[in-house]
Amino acid sequence: MNGISGKTAVVTGAGSGIGRATAERFAAEGANVVVADVVEETGRETVESIEDDGGEATFVEVDVSDTESVERMVDTAVEEYGGLDFANNNAGILTGFAGVTDIEEEQWDRLIDINLKGVWACMKAELPVMEAQGSGAIVNTASEAGLVGMGGLASYSASKHGVVGLTKTVALEYASRGIRVNAVAPGPTDTNIQSGMSGGSGDPSSMPFDTSAMVDVPMGRTAEPEEMAGVVAFLCSEDASYVTGHTLPVDGGQAAD
Ligand code: NAD
Repeated sequence: MNGISGKTAVVTGAGSGIGRATAERFAAEGANVVVADVVEETGRETVESIEDDGGEATFVEVDVSDTESVERMVDTAVEEYGGLDFANNNAGILTGFAGVTDIEEEQWDRLIDINLKGVWACMKAELPVMEAQGSGAIVNTASEAGLVGMGGLASYSASKHGVVGLTKTVALEYASRGIRVNAVAPGPTDTNIQSGMSGGSGDPSSMPFDTSAMVDVPMGRTAEPEEMAGVVAFLCSEDASYVTGHTLPVDGGQAAD
């Protein structure tokens, strides 16, 4: 893909699912990849998989809700590879399927800290490096739940709507400074996060909410993580050189419904 080879990318949540597929895709396109995750074991597995395929990657342990840890992540990119060209701020959790009055405060805070504050923290650390270079592209991972409401997912949906708003705002702030900021909004994708949902306060199918937005996909199937990775790579590539502030649904047609 145009303009990715030889550059440096950081991917958060790269130990699993969409983040792993995206890290692998950047590496396959010839980028140096900083594989960032809160779980060391799976992050290192991603690095191994990239290296086995002849790519270049480094693991860094990060908790995206901790600004100091995020700064260390960006420092690693600069120290290892001399800069930072692309970032996929992708780490996120999906916990506690419950009605809004049943959400515990601690659970609300944790989800917002990781899914929304984490994206802000990453951009806060990444943008100065990109600005000094005069170029860069950021793709934040939002969700279909960042575009429409989903009963039983109040904190998750609020966090992802926040990511969409943050993406637009930061895109405007940096549009004239050579840095593009976009988001992807995945529909249901076959990763570990999907199974975590049943660990919440209830099983979606047994709740008195309209859950159709979660499961009804016009294309009639869930996505593979690689189908998100390709779109993230496209948004970072030169082929998307005039695209900024956009949230691109990658959802088998859900957003059109
Ligand atoms: P996943 O659970 O397979 O991967 C998430 C990764 O993020 C894991 O490796 C996990 O260790 C890491 N992570 C969690 N908390 C972290 C933290 N505090 N700091 C750093 N890393 C952390 O899930 P996924 O589906 O690949 O999710 C990736 C992103 O895609 C998330 O933001 C999620 O909300 C979004 N998304 C997923 C779907 C889906 O259906 N899978 C749909 C829409 C949006």
